[in-house]
Amino acid sequence: MHKASDLMNEIGGVFQPKKIYSLKYSQVLQRIGELKRAARVKECGSFLEFGLYDDETVRLSHANFCSDPLCPQCAKRKSLKVFSQVAAVTEKLQSEYVFLFVTLTVKNPTGDELGETCDLLYKSYQRLVDVKRMKFIKGAFRALEITVNRNTMPITYHPHLHCIWAVEKSYFDNDYLPQKELSALWAQALGVKYTPIVDIRLCRNKGFTVNGKVYTKSIKSAVAEVAKYAVKASDYLAGTDDQNEEVVKTLLSVLRNRRMFAFTGIMRAVRQELKLDEIETGDLIHVEADEKPTSAVLVAKLVFSWDSKLGEYVHTGTEIVEEEQNESRTA
Ligand SMILES: [Zn+2]
Repeated sequence: MHKASDLMNEIGGVFQPKKIYSLKYSQVLQRIGELKRAARVKECGSFLEFGLYDDETVRLSHANFCSDPLCPQCAKRKSLKVFSQVAAVTEKLQSEYVFLFVTLTVKNPTGDELGETCDLLYKSYQRLVDVKRMKFIKGAFRALEITVNRNTMPITYHPHLHCIWAVEKSYFDNDYLPQKELSALWAQALGVKYTPIVDIRLCRNKGFTVNGKVYTKSIKSAVAEVAKYAVKASDYLAGTDDQNEEVVKTLLSVLRNRRMFAFTGIMRAVRQELKLDEIETGDLIHVEADEKPTSAVLVAKLVFSWDSKLGEYVHTGTEIVEEEQNESRTA
């Protein structure tokens, strides 16, 4: 839900650049012979309908999103959805739990090794949280992120997990886990001899102090970090044609059958209680928690369409919603 006065900025500043990136992605797909996929992505978000309400807010009400795992327009929608879901879940648990923001990494694989490395990350994560020392984790959200090092020969990838762990407030007295110990446990779970880079910190509002150490990470910034979508369009669309083709092929094959987000334990339970739908396969139109129906009355529908000649969205229609329509809808 946004202020009606911001709508043009949102279309020009958010939907439009993503749409341009999606078209670029569609061209890469075409070149690598993924023709059906290319056609679907090309049409993504070519039509956007916003509901205008009598409290001067607007909400996206219809759109044709493609749901492709690498589509930049859809990635933006999914990351808004992750942000609002994780924010809603942590808010609900905030009075009873504190949250740790954790990053777990592994040595950078090449494209050929990326799939098995992602599987290793998932399996090792399960092994890690299953050890007795880690039973202080009462709930978790984890997200896979893969960044690309385009300038190595061959191209290498940096798959890693961002997690938010819900722990009891007694964590600092009873279960405190230093970074070094986490690194050792993570190496054990991965079954590797090297010391993997990990990061663990408390998410609290700025200035929170424990054992003389001041924590600066706020819950919101941690949530924003996990909400970044698994892959950044700039990683697979900003290189040379050859690089883009290679990276798109690799990422598509890896992301095709893997879940990028998971909620477990108490965070999963709250998510179910809040009736939040699936991030990857669910609704990409109503993605923000504050988009739930309010008492505001729908007054008009504003339609924007992608004009491929102009390369921008144009306002193509306004439908005034008659009062009777609203009444019959609420009846
Ligand atoms: Zn899309």
